[in-house]
Amino acid sequence: MHLRPDEENARASRFFTSENADRYRETAEQRGIEELGVAEHIYRFVQSLDVWQHPWFRHWAHDDIDEYCDFVREETDLRLGIEADFVAGREDRLSNLLDGREWDYVVGSVHFLRDDAVDLHGESDWAQWDVWRSGGDPDRVWRRYFEALGEAARSGLYDILAHPDLVKIFTGRVPAPDGDLRRFYEIAVDGIAESDVAIEVSTAGLRKPVGEIYPAAPFLEMCLEAGRPVALSSDAHVPEQLGFEYERALSFLGDLGVTEIAVFERRRRRLEPLG
Ligand SMILES: [Zn+2]
Repeated sequence: MHLRPDEENARASRFFTSENADRYRETAEQRGIEELGVAEHIYRFVQSLDVWQHPWFRHWAHDDIDEYCDFVREETDLRLGIEADFVAGREDRLSNLLDGREWDYVVGSVHFLRDDAVDLHGESDWAQWDVWRSGGDPDRVWRRYFEALGEAARSGLYDILAHPDLVKIFTGRVPAPDGDLRRFYEIAVDGIAESDVAIEVSTAGLRKPVGEIYPAAPFLEMCLEAGRPVALSSDAHVPEQLGFEYERALSFLGDLGVTEIAVFERRRRRLEPLG
């Protein structure tokens, strides 16, 4: 989860407090969630500008990453994570940023294909960086997305792949490919099979235009066949979103025969029974 909304005025000083962490912990307890970790977006920290100087990063980078780490370690009982965008060609720089900080887990996400984002459609301030701005050839966008996801897995930088088919987020509002989508998933599965990442099952997609869990069942099936474990997330940005629609996630996982999920401590993974 995240300790704050994706809003510019949601500054660290207001949200990185033990009171705020307690609100999440209390909600988690009420909802039967024992293991809880926070993975703030890396681009909200000034150090991310050493990795990439995209205008999106420059716009959001205000806080200090070490203050965040110290806060989570010293003032909360949450697992310490980070959601780090995969930026092709910047793997070494990202590795430098991640190394030397004591994460429990590092979440990799693909939001950008080169300079364009797959998830900024309809945000007028960012129209210039919207991969869908001129309609977008859906087959090409999806192919590029899953190539990047496979590279992210193969990079070895990550413990978890976040919202693995995020590219579908605006389905219904932007063109989507026809037919069996496994031809796209296959592109990423090669890299995923060679990696040691866990695959995030996220209920956040149910809050988005697509209205589906990430990833689609056929994609998760392919990852399971490749031997990958599952991590579970609601991608909550406020306490009320913790465990969002987890009943649906549990039946989704049950249908696919998944009975355990991956949890992390100091970047070591173990499996815990679900439910
Ligand atoms: Zn993300």
